[in-house]
Amino acid sequence: MSTLEITDLHVSVATEDGPKEILKGVTLTIESGQVHAIMGPNGSGKSTLAYSIAGHPKYEVTGGSVTLDGEDVLAMTVDERARAGVFLAMQYPVEVPGVSVANFLRTAKTAIDGEAPKLRTWVKDVNATLERVDLDPTFSQRSVNEGFSGGEKKRHEIAQLELLDPKVAILDETDSGLDIDALRIVSEGVNRFSDKGDRGVLLITHYTRILRYITPDVVHVFVNGRIAEQGGPELADQLEAEGYDKYTKAATA
Ligand code: ADP
Ligand code: MG
Ligand code: MG
Repeated sequence: MSTLEITDLHVSVATEDGPKEILKGVTLTIESGQVHAIMGPNGSGKSTLAYSIAGHPKYEVTGGSVTLDGEDVLAMTVDERARAGVFLAMQYPVEVPGVSVANFLRTAKTAIDGEAPKLRTWVKDVNATLERVDLDPTFSQRSVNEGFSGGEKKRHEIAQLELLDPKVAILDETDSGLDIDALRIVSEGVNRFSDKGDRGVLLITHYTRILRYITPDVVHVFVNGRIAEQGGPELADQLEAEGYDKYTKAATA
């Protein structure tokens, strides 16, 4: 069992006019085995939440706490967070020219496990994982994210997720820009990961369509740096029908 516990999290970013508070007290607990969906309009702070948990230096935590199985995540370096079992799939993955997918995956796996994976089983694992997300084995020789299509970037991230096998996966708009086949492949990967049982998923999305493939245990409506409402999967259907209007109006009233 693992638990990611976010308590009254406040986060600011530096702007030309000084620090600007983006997260204004976020509280949420993800137990392993659960999928939590965070849904909200553009600019509500969803990516800020993801980056803050992963430890991006641009975001300053000004209050609250994040713990993984009682350990203070905010006190950890980015590498320590990854080793502790926090995985972030970014909304806009970075290109790493000159580093092949194969080397990247092996370096990441070695860093997280503290030892290099056994070569023979590793190559098999990588090829099988790429195949499951419908990527050709030759894909492992390409430079990370360089010239990848939107769908290839996201499928590569799901391959990373499956191979690195963290305790908690934060997936930031993993569904954006995907055609229907890629959406299904990505969703199946998230479900395979989640169905292992002792894993938590924080699925950030702007649209409800991915939730037709991945059934969340809890849906959070995120507006203006706060959770405005929580519910079960039916809340996603309600959002699809009604949009975020009622929440954004309440937040600015
Ligand atoms: P979301 O992922 O929900 O679309 P983000 O977390 O990316 O939202 O952004 C939340 C808010 O933070 C937005 O209003 C954005 O403009 C603001 N923001 C992020 N970085 C900066 C920055 N460097 N300067 C000013 N505002 C910023
Ligand atoms: Mg489940
Ligand atoms: Mg975002």
